[in-house]
Amino acid sequence: MSAMISKPATTTAPSASTGDKPLIWVNGQLLPKSQAAVSVYDHGLLYGDGVFEGIRVYKGKIFKLKQHMDRLYACANKIHLDLEKFVSRDEMVRIQRTCVEANGIQDGYIRLVVTRGVGTLGLNPYLCPEPGVVCIADTISLYKPEMYQKGMRVVLANRPKTPIACLDPRIKSLNYLNNILAKCEAIHLSNKLGITKPEDQLLEVIMLNTEGHVTEGSGDNIFFVKDGVVYTPPSEAGILEGITRRFVMDTLCPACGVKVVEKHFTMAEFLDADEAFLTGSAAEMIAVREVLEHKDLEVTATHTISAGEGPITNALRTKFREIVTSDHVPED
Ligand code: PMP
Repeated sequence: MSAMISKPATTTAPSASTGDKPLIWVNGQLLPKSQAAVSVYDHGLLYGDGVFEGIRVYKGKIFKLKQHMDRLYACANKIHLDLEKFVSRDEMVRIQRTCVEANGIQDGYIRLVVTRGVGTLGLNPYLCPEPGVVCIADTISLYKPEMYQKGMRVVLANRPKTPIACLDPRIKSLNYLNNILAKCEAIHLSNKLGITKPEDQLLEVIMLNTEGHVTEGSGDNIFFVKDGVVYTPPSEAGILEGITRRFVMDTLCPACGVKVVEKHFTMAEFLDADEAFLTGSAAEMIAVREVLEHKDLEVTATHTISAGEGPITNALRTKFREIVTSDHVPED
C-alpha cells in the first residue's frame, strides 16, 4: 500500500544514484519509488477495495509462487473481481519477476497489490473499468535474529476478529483495519508499560473469534505444541489460509516427523501449551514466549509459554531455513 499513499511525482528526475529505489510496477509501468503513485479515485485507496499478497523471495526464487497466485486469483473472485479477464497468471508472474530482476533482489519480499481500479466517488465497484496492479519488490528485515531464539511477547486482543459472515478473513483484502486496530492494542500497551528493549516489546496480538476461539495474529497464523503434537486453528475459525502455515503443515512437520492437527481451541488450551509460534511470509516462523492479557490497557495477567524458542519450533524453523537457503527453493 505504500505506493498508494506515496507523494505524487516530483519535478526532480530520479536516478539510481539518488537512491530512488526500488523500481515499482504501477499499472503497466516500472517507476522509481518517488514517482510510483496511483489515482486518488482508485477504490483500493477510497474503500480498501482490492486484494493483495506478501511473498518471499529466496535466492532469486519466488517462494511458493503458485500458491500465492492461486490465493490471489481466488481472493479476487471472492470480491467479484474477474482478475484473469484483465491480467493472466503468466502476466502476473512476469510482472513479479521483472520487479525482482530490476531491483536485483536475491532475498527479499514482494508486495503485490490488486485494486478495484479507478472509479467514481461512490461504492459501486462495477463503475471501475479495470483493476489496478502494483508490485513492489524490496528487501525486508522484520525481526532481529535474536528474537527468533528468544521468542516474542504478544498480547491477547480485546477486539474480536471480524466474523466470517461479515467479511471472510480468508479474503486477503486491502481492508486490514480490524487487524491494525487489534495490533494497536499491543503497541499502545507496550508504550504504556514503557518497554524499550526491542526483544521485550509487544508487537503482535492473538485475536479471538466471536465464539471465543483462537484465530490468528494481526499478520500471522498461530500454532501451539503440546506433548509433541502441533496444533493450529482450522480455516473455519476465521483465519487467512497462510502459505507459510501450509508449508509448516505439509512440508516441515512431516519432514521433522511431527504430527499436526487442525482444531478449534480456546485461550485456556493455548496457554497450557509447551511451545507456541507464529507464521507468515514476512515473519517466517517465530516463537511466542509470553502472552499478556489486558482490559482497556491495564494488564490483567501474564502467562509464560516457554523460556525461549522450544525444541519443536526450533526443529521446524531449522528445516525451514534449510529449504529456503538450498538450491531448491520451491516455487510450487
Ligand atoms: N494471517 C494474516 C491476517 C496475515 O496478514 C498473514 C500474512 N499475510 C498471515 C496470516 C500469514 O500468511 P502467509 O503465510 O501467506 O504470509
